[in-house]
Amino acid sequence: MEKVSDRLNKMAVSATLAMAQKSRDLQAQGVDIINLSIGEPDFDTPEHIKEAAKKAIDDNFTHYPPVPGYDSLRKAIVNKFKRENNLDYSVDQIVVSTGAKHSIINVFLSILNPGDEVIVPAPYWVSYVDMVGLAEGIPVVIKCDINSDFKMTATQLESAITTKTRAIIFSSPSNPTGNLYSKEELKNLASVISKHPNIIVLSDEIYEHINFVGKHESIAQFSEIKDRVVVVNGVSKGYAMTGWRIGYIGAPAWIAKAVTKLQGQFTSGACTIAQKAAEAALNAGSEQCKEMTAIFKKRRDIVLNFMKDIPGFKTNLPEGAFYVFPEVSYFFDKKYENYTIKDSNDLALYLLDKGHVATVGGTAFGSPECLRFSYATSEELMLEALNRIKNALALLK
Ligand code: PMP
Ligand code: GLU
Repeated sequence: MEKVSDRLNKMAVSATLAMAQKSRDLQAQGVDIINLSIGEPDFDTPEHIKEAAKKAIDDNFTHYPPVPGYDSLRKAIVNKFKRENNLDYSVDQIVVSTGAKHSIINVFLSILNPGDEVIVPAPYWVSYVDMVGLAEGIPVVIKCDINSDFKMTATQLESAITTKTRAIIFSSPSNPTGNLYSKEELKNLASVISKHPNIIVLSDEIYEHINFVGKHESIAQFSEIKDRVVVVNGVSKGYAMTGWRIGYIGAPAWIAKAVTKLQGQFTSGACTIAQKAAEAALNAGSEQCKEMTAIFKKRRDIVLNFMKDIPGFKTNLPEGAFYVFPEVSYFFDKKYENYTIKDSNDLALYLLDKGHVATVGGTAFGSPECLRFSYATSEELMLEALNRIKNALALLK
């Protein structure tokens, strides 16, 4: 009998990947789709990183690596944390995995017991809630809205904490909102967390380098909670290396040890060639990331300027990453031909069918009133996409 597990049945399909696949399928049928759904830099991986990978093959880095990653890469990560974040880690606190996505599920599977609660401020990145569920935890969602730049306050956090709270996860810079927490805001959150010694913080900093306002701030900088913070990071976004699949954590040693044990039964160490490429990326520093970030910032301004003139779009100012997350509830209950827009998922499908632009509805991010646009695409395509969107929306009455 074809019957998948209850565990799998309870899990949603990744909405970002589903929309990306849908647009690939339509493109394969010859439909001219502009894909603003998936969050990945449109740049190619820089040459010196590709060279390091080629050299890794020639140097026969083709055998099983150590489960938590090569020491040389883990040292490069320790140095990165010190150099860029002023955070002190030893090599045994670092675990390299097959993408940051893998790092996050590793941590949840390593620390959660059935029924443990995990606080997830919404809008959240699609996969957090399903990962918590897979680890048999219970997501406790704090709803944050556009008027507070989609950020949770210390008071909101405090009132969501119960005796069952085991963890909290958030991303800053954020996917899907592009917002980032200031040092002051993180300090206030840290002071709440410091009163609850059972809580582990998963601080997803994968967009660290795509920051338009200045220095990256990590919640791990606050010594009162540092021994309970797991910093999640990777090379996918900042170094345009999404396909290489390398993520990592800087964590308390006991969590790094637990994750290594888990990974030893699941996947073993991450791809050797990709590890050597990631090492070259991190050792060369973040200069090249800055160039890409300057381009993202220019695109953000173009998108926001355009969206200002779309009636019914309410935007705030994203300070990082490469997403805009306008509130679009103005269009709910509007109709065109046989389309009726009930929520932002309907709107995303409508824009795909009528405008040939792929976006992602906000429901999967915990904010059904919003729609996510990734502007990690060329200016020319972006403007074309925005014009198509504007025209398609104008038909809804
Ligand atoms: N966290 C966030 C917030 C993300 O947007 C992504 C992108 N997929 C990830 C983690 C996972 O990144 P990776 O490609 O390293 O698995
Ligand atoms: N993080 C990206 C996104 O949110 C990539 C897709 C994914 O891994 O879900 O679109």
